[in-house]
This record gives sequence, C-alpha cells and structure tokens, in this order.
Amino acid sequence: MNIILLGPPGAGKGTQAARLVERHGMRQLSTGDMLRAAVQAETPTGLKVKAIMESGGLVPDEIVSSLISDELVALPQTVGLIFDGYPRTEAQARQLDEILARHRRKIDRVIELAVDEDALVERITGRFTCAHCGAGYHEKFKLPRNTDPLMCDHCGSFDFKRRPDDNEQTVRTRMAEYRAKTAPILPFYEARGLVSRVNGMADIDEVTEEIEQVLGS
Ligand code: AMP
Repeated sequence: MNIILLGPPGAGKGTQAARLVERHGMRQLSTGDMLRAAVQAETPTGLKVKAIMESGGLVPDEIVSSLISDELVALPQTVGLIFDGYPRTEAQARQLDEILARHRRKIDRVIELAVDEDALVERITGRFTCAHCGAGYHEKFKLPRNTDPLMCDHCGSFDFKRRPDDNEQTVRTRMAEYRAKTAPILPFYEARGLVSRVNGMADIDEVTEEIEQVLGS
C-alpha cells in the first residue's frame, strides 16, 4: 500500500508516519527530512534550499520530485510507502503520478490530518528533538521523564535540538503556503475517491487508531 499523509505543518504527519513504519515495516519518504539532511551536508541542493526553508517558503517542485524519484529507485516493490510532506503542490502531485507509474506503483489512499491552525503554532514552536537519536519532545505536552537535567528517555543523551524553521513567524508562512498551494491538491485526489479525513487534534494514539481503521488493518 502506498499512502500520502496530508496536513499543515505540525499536524502530526511525521509522528504518525514513524508509527506506521514501526507497525507495518512501511517506508517513510519525507522531503523535509531529505532537504534538512542536504542542508546539513552542504550539498549543492542543500546550499540552494537553505534560505527558502528558513523563510518557510516552498522549495522548487523539480528539486523535491527528483529527491523522491532517486529514493524510489532502490526500494523493492513489496515495501509500502508513506509520503510525508510531499506532494505539496498540484505540479508535485502530477510528478508523483509519473514517478510511481515508472515503478508500477500507485497511490492507494490519501489521509488528511484535519487540525485547528491556532493550536498548531503552539504545537510547533514548543517541539524539540534529541540530537542523538531523533526522539521527539514538546515543552508543554511531552517533556522527557528526566527534566533536571533534561535527558532523552530513549538513549540517555543530554543534547537536544530545535528546527530553525519552528519559530512563530516562519510557522505562519508555512501555514499560508499550505493553505494556498497544498490544500488545493485535495480535490485532485478526491476526484479519484482516495481521500479520508482524520481528526488530527485527537490524542496521538487515537489518531493512529483512526489511521489504522482507514487502512483496514
Ligand atoms: P517539513 O519538514 O515537511 O515541514 O518541511 C520543511 C521545509 O522544507 C518546508 O517549509 C519547505 O521549505 C521544504 N519542503 C519540504 N517538503 C517540500 C515539498 N514537498 N515541496 C516544497 N518544499 C518542501
């Protein structure tokens, strides 16, 4: 099964994708993660997109679609895919169709995580991750068990980091981009009867269960 998780920044796409990977051995394809890795490694793509990402704008369609296309080459047909943060424009949705067709794959379901935008700003600006293992935390909703000093529950590291684009101003731009360019791709998939709406404001476990029900597992 190949699915798309669609929703504004902070809707929980990454969290839910990680759970699907764990439960079903699917593969998460996050263009945001790929781009951050490119920025970190200072590759030519990374250097090109750094400022765009810091501003909260969208990276050109060709760049993200070629990242996805490259990743797919090495993946066996039997591995189900979860697209997280891609496609984000109608052009990307069309490019994804072409890429998948080349691999004799198709999108089986699009899950829209519906959320209240005001709550998202609080969710996003409070989040941070373990710099060592990547475990996700939140200042208000999910602190590590040990807070003095702050220590990662999973690996015991004392190093944490925040995404540079998780500040309020950038978050507002990212949301405006979602409304203007990404939400309009829903009808593209609705016309094929592929969209299921899930309440992304519910508790993390409830959202996972709703997604599992949609996927019929
Ligand atoms: P994310 O981790 O999905 O929130 O993405 C972080 C940033 O990476 C976004 O604000 C964009 O600047 C860029 N980005 C990630 N995925 C895409 C995409 N599919 N199309 C355009 N820009 C993207």
